[in-house]
Amino acid sequence: MSKTLKHIDDVIRVAPGAGASLSARDPVCDRLFPDKSEAEHATAADAEAIDALQDKLWAERKRALLVVLQGIDTSGKDGTVRGVFNRCGPLGVCVTSFGRPSEQELAHDYLWRVHVAMPKKGMIGVFNRSHYEDVLVVKVRGLAPSEVVEQRYDQINGFEKHLTENGVTILKFMLHISKDEQKQRLQERLDDPNKHWKFNPGDLEDRALWDDYQRAYDIMLERCSTEHAPWRVVPADKKWRRNAIIAAVVRATLEEMNPRYPEPEWKAGEFRIE
Ligand code: ADP
Repeated sequence: MSKTLKHIDDVIRVAPGAGASLSARDPVCDRLFPDKSEAEHATAADAEAIDALQDKLWAERKRALLVVLQGIDTSGKDGTVRGVFNRCGPLGVCVTSFGRPSEQELAHDYLWRVHVAMPKKGMIGVFNRSHYEDVLVVKVRGLAPSEVVEQRYDQINGFEKHLTENGVTILKFMLHISKDEQKQRLQERLDDPNKHWKFNPGDLEDRALWDDYQRAYDIMLERCSTEHAPWRVVPADKKWRRNAIIAAVVRATLEEMNPRYPEPEWKAGEFRIE
C-alpha cells in the first residue's frame, strides 16, 4: 500500500467489524491536506493520473473500478464527480445517479437496477447514491418492513463479494458533513436564484430526520465495511479537502490495480504504412 493511501486510510477507513461512530469523526479534519492550495494542486495531478490509468484499464479490458458515493443532501456527491473525474475522457467513466425507484425497478429485487448499472470491464463506474439507499432512506422512512431491511446488510456484502471476485474493485465513500454545514449549503440554494433548481422542499423533511439518518449511516458503516469493500468516511465540510482525499484514494487504488497495455501479437516493425 502506498504511503499516501496509508496516511489517509489511518483516518478515514472503517475497519471491518468496528463501529464507525460518525459523531466521533471530524467533518473538517485538517490533519489531512491542511493547505488548500496544495490540496487543489494534488487533486489536479491525481485527476490527470486517474485518466491515464483508466486508459490502460480500458486497453486491458479485464477489470473495472466502482466508486460509490453516499451522503445526505448537499454532502457533495455531484461536486465530487466534477472535481475528481473531470480529466477522464467521457468514454471511460459512467456515472449513475440512483433516485426513487421506478415502477419497473420496484417490480424487481432492489439490487437489480444496481447490477445493471455496474461498470463493464475497462470502465470506471461512479454511483451517485447507490444500493445503500435501500438501508438508509428505506430504513429511516419505513419504506420496507424492518425485517426486510435487516436482511439487506448481509445480502449487500454477498453481492459486493460476488462483484469483487468477478473483477470489480469497489471503493465506497461516505461524504460526512456537519449539520451546520448542511444548513449553510441549503441556505445558499435559497439565496442564489441560480441554485433554486437544486432546492427541494423534501430535503427539509430529511434534515428534520438528521439523527435517524446518522444512526442509519452508523449501522450501515458497521455492518457493510468489509475486507473486500471497506467504507471510507470522508471529512466533507471543505469541498477541496473532500476532493483531494477521494482523488488520492482513487489514484492509489488504480495504481495498485496496475493495469497494463496489452502486448500485441505482432511487431510494429512488421508494418509499413504507405
Ligand atoms: P439528489 O438529491 O441525489 O441530488 P434527487 O433529488 O433525484 O437527487 O434525489 C434522489 C432521491 O431518491 C433521494 O431523496 C433519495 O433518498 C431517493 N432514493 C434513492 N434511492 C432510493 C430507494 N432505493 N428508495 C427510495 N428512495 C430512494
